[in-house]
Amino acid sequence: MATETSDAIRNVIIIGSGPAGYTAAVYTARANLEPLVIAGSVTAGGELMNTTDVENFPGFREGILGPDLMDNMQAQAERFGAEIQYEDVASVDLSGDIKTVTLADGTVYKSLAVIVSTGSAYRELGLPNEKRLSGHGVSWCATCDGFFFREQEIAVIGGGDSAMEEALFLTKFASKVTVVHRREELRASKIMADRALAHPKIEFVWNTAVSDAVGTEKVSAVKLENLVDGGVSELPVTGIFVAIGNDPRTDLVKGQLDLTPEGTIAVDGRTSRTNIPGVFAAGDVIDPTYRQAVTAAGSGCVAALDVEHYLSSLPAASERDAAVAN
Ligand code: NAP
Repeated sequence: MATETSDAIRNVIIIGSGPAGYTAAVYTARANLEPLVIAGSVTAGGELMNTTDVENFPGFREGILGPDLMDNMQAQAERFGAEIQYEDVASVDLSGDIKTVTLADGTVYKSLAVIVSTGSAYRELGLPNEKRLSGHGVSWCATCDGFFFREQEIAVIGGGDSAMEEALFLTKFASKVTVVHRREELRASKIMADRALAHPKIEFVWNTAVSDAVGTEKVSAVKLENLVDGGVSELPVTGIFVAIGNDPRTDLVKGQLDLTPEGTIAVDGRTSRTNIPGVFAAGDVIDPTYRQAVTAAGSGCVAALDVEHYLSSLPAASERDAAVAN
């Protein structure tokens, strides 16, 4: 296990390599802050690595593949001098003026500022064929993938606001949307529920759990189990949209950074400032609402500018050393 600990103090370490992390890297690199991005070992590139065509990221007339978009962002950050480490962060100590970031391989980095852009994870149903058919009919993002289901019949799983929002959005494309919910009462707010219940293209299947996604190369049906009478059935659909909630990835910073009641990292107004000076947060990990690649990128830009401002307000290194010596 590597335990390479350096006394060098970096300007900024960015944790996470989705659109927020890489945008923060581009901006801080262009500001000559020589950012270090801890990109993750298997999660490098973030959620967009799991999507196919991204058609709503501005600037790409014909769309771009999610992994290509992330490769471009990474290369753009590196072009200006960002350093990237494909390792996971094991722990952070954000308390003092100098922050410590320890990687899974034992390497310890020190930095004046840290940007937390660890994203969020869609909750999965845990179906036997869910992962295999992900991107082939199983999706967690109606705004990303709804367009591909024109005039097709699809299912949305969940009974909360996200499920209602996804179902309503999908009626723009699909010929029929069936919402499958495990209870007979929706969790969604009344206004969202009423809208969905009144929509002519949306049907509801109540008291029903999903037991699997069916299909060899692409989804052809969803396997259902009625939780009242135990009856099993298959609903023919080409798309299964899972909308059972989303969890911001905050495990690393729990107990150090303040969180909101929704579980995201709390930031000060429209800034990226957390409750600890020198620690900033950006992207899905602070966003319970929009969760788009472009909003995450914008948030990463905000964090980079906040870091620049913060660093310029600090005493110069020589003054810091003198203060420590005294
Ligand atoms: P949520 O409110 O936690 O709802 C999750 C839904 O998924 C619930 O209906 C839950 O069923 C169901 N569910 C959870 N685990 C499941 C499983 N393993 N199998 C089947 N069903 C499962 O999550 P959300 O809808 O993502 O909303 C999160 C927050 O964002 C909420 O505060 C919401 O109001 C807000 N939001 C607002 C808007 C808006 O206002 N436009 C849009 C999206 C989200 P049960 O009901 O049985 O627990």
